[in-house]
Amino acid sequence: MMSDRVYNFSAGPSMLPLEVLQRAGSEITNYQGSGMSVMEMSHRSKVFMKIFEDTQERFRTLFRVPDNYRILFLQGGASSQFSMVPLNLIGKTGRADYAVTGNFANVAYKEAKKYGEISVAASSADQNHTYIPAQDQLVLDPAASYFYYCANNTIYGTEWQYVPDTGDVPLVCDMSSDILSRPVDVSKYGIIFAGAQKNMAPAGLTVVVIREDLAGAELPYTPLMMNYKTMIDKDSMYNTPPCWCIYVLGLVLEWLEVQGGVSGMEAVKHGKAQMLYDVLDGSRLFTCAAQKGSRSDMNVTFRSATEALDAKFVAEAAAAGFTNLKGHRNVGGMRASIYNAMPTEGVERLCEFIRAFDKKN
Ligand SMILES: *Cc1c(COP(=O)(O)O)cnc(C)c1O
Repeated sequence: MMSDRVYNFSAGPSMLPLEVLQRAGSEITNYQGSGMSVMEMSHRSKVFMKIFEDTQERFRTLFRVPDNYRILFLQGGASSQFSMVPLNLIGKTGRADYAVTGNFANVAYKEAKKYGEISVAASSADQNHTYIPAQDQLVLDPAASYFYYCANNTIYGTEWQYVPDTGDVPLVCDMSSDILSRPVDVSKYGIIFAGAQKNMAPAGLTVVVIREDLAGAELPYTPLMMNYKTMIDKDSMYNTPPCWCIYVLGLVLEWLEVQGGVSGMEAVKHGKAQMLYDVLDGSRLFTCAAQKGSRSDMNVTFRSATEALDAKFVAEAAAAGFTNLKGHRNVGGMRASIYNAMPTEGVERLCEFIRAFDKKN
């Protein structure tokens, strides 16, 4: 780590690999002899088209996306998908199932209610979203057009450890905060989407993986820019795509290949999370917010006995170079977001800091 960089535990936008930032920096005024920055070139130029296609191809290979799925590079953030999903999919039966396991799933659920009859297939609100409901707790509507869930609940620090079995009902999944951290059997899903700024690239890019046959049945008033079919037909280039973010995603994917792809990353990220949970579980002062068996490998939520001590921890940690550890207001306490780009060393140093703080206070 360069000495002027902090260990940034922000939930998003979050750390990018140092190698990626350095490479992007070295190419920022003249991308590979083109005489211009990627920020300055036409999205229809040969140079950019190559970046675009290579990035799509890299994503397809790394995330093992089958041929009957399309990879879209959109804008609007993950939140725009909260509307886009029902607008495009609910027309089939007018009904859908939602698992409400956290803030973003709840926002998506409320948005979907504008467009159809939405059932809560499961909710963890009874215990402040500290757990993920088990398969046998899901109340499934066989007539649902799709089943929606959020794989990793960024704010609460819980993560689905299984893929829900919904029979023939297509799965729609918000993977904003754990995409590319573990292998996924894409063929089990109808749509996977993710805002890039947690685990992939700068903010401004939303990656959507969609089974091609699901597009084209949108509600008649679906806005042009929210129609998957428009974006599929024009390969995400109906209008100007988020060019710079796509370029950086390409660099992150190259970096990920060197780390052993998503399987390599799975081992690393699980090791980092386990290290942190072990230190917290073994401490006197701290308790973890999420229940065992539902804990996220990406966002570790924890607290001490008092808000004053939490504040002291956050302030002393920041002074020691560990930033953005304050938890979300819905949960309180602390949250350490340890996405792919957080080096193992950063988690080791944080663990040392936690142990020392636990002894002193
Ligand atoms: C951050 C986040 C969102 C919101 O993403 P935007 O790109 O800001 O719209 C949605 N879902 C999850 C799981 C997130 O972590």
